[in-house]
Amino acid sequence: MDLSIILPVYNEEENIPKLHSKITNVLTKLNKSYEIIYVDDGSKDSSFEILSEMAKADKRVKIVQFRKNFGQTAAISAGIEYSQGDILILMDADGQNDPEDISRLLEKIDEGYDVVSGWRKNRQDKLITRKIPSVLANKLISMVTGVHLHDYGCTLKAYKRDIIKDIKLYGEMHRFIPVYAAWWGGAKISEIVVTHHPRRYGKTKYGLSRTIKVILDLWTLKFLGSYGTKPIYTFGGFGILLCFSGIMISAVVIFQKYAYGVWVHRNPLLLLSVFLFILGVQLGMLGLLAEIIIRTYYESQNKSTYLLKKIINLERG
Ligand code: UDP
Ligand code: MG
Repeated sequence: MDLSIILPVYNEEENIPKLHSKITNVLTKLNKSYEIIYVDDGSKDSSFEILSEMAKADKRVKIVQFRKNFGQTAAISAGIEYSQGDILILMDADGQNDPEDISRLLEKIDEGYDVVSGWRKNRQDKLITRKIPSVLANKLISMVTGVHLHDYGCTLKAYKRDIIKDIKLYGEMHRFIPVYAAWWGGAKISEIVVTHHPRRYGKTKYGLSRTIKVILDLWTLKFLGSYGTKPIYTFGGFGILLCFSGIMISAVVIFQKYAYGVWVHRNPLLLLSVFLFILGVQLGMLGLLAEIIIRTYYESQNKSTYLLKKIINLERG
């Protein structure tokens, strides 16, 4: 199978039929074997019935139905897990992404990229609640992760299968798949401008609150990516810093006592130094706990702390 198109669906009954015929048109022209996987994320409208009809008519249409709404990221994970194509293309099921862009994504993949990201340069969403936070978030993500993309939030992206098949996604993390791919898979990433349409029917499932989730996800990702196998470096590092500040400040307290006769118990700095010292020790201890947890995590599941590309003249021992 050459291609898997994966679409998360949550209450998109009015949007699906039109989008589906567009996708089918585009794919027929491409002359590749393909499947279209719709993941019904617990829709409460007739989305599932519509999808089932489509699947009856065409065996290349596949459906994964969730028991309840688990969120877009979970839907995308399921789609990836059940897919078989060599190249995976994710897109929204609300018709905001344009299937016409699929062929251009594939051209880039053929040039040798592992991930090709869509960029909704002319985005058709609300300015204040969506576009401005998105620009800022994208800048922040690019800066923190070192993977420079203009539009992490755009679902329309193409991936080579081997780069994302083992990926585990949590929270709102589907937007960080390119980062995973780059950090853990050494992926080559490219970007193209894609068309974006306003939403015709139904309404967006997200608002400003998602920005906060995205920032927290980024925080987690950065930690796991940089220090996931050595948490004591982060916790212990801060801990030592705090203990050291505590000791320095207590030195000032002692100095002030002998030089200026300031009573130690009347010096607010004493409180600060004790506070910092205790906090530092606690952080160090927390780091040790995190070390134990992370070891259990890797060793109990026989997980490796590295990923191989190839081995030559060797077998797995
Ligand atoms: N979606 C989903 N589960 C959810 C929320 C959204 O599967 O809990 C799907 C939704 O049906 C759409 C895509 O994810 O296909 C993007 O959602 P939406 O259009 O609401 O987001 P926006 O484009 O406004 O960022
Ligand atoms: Mg949308």
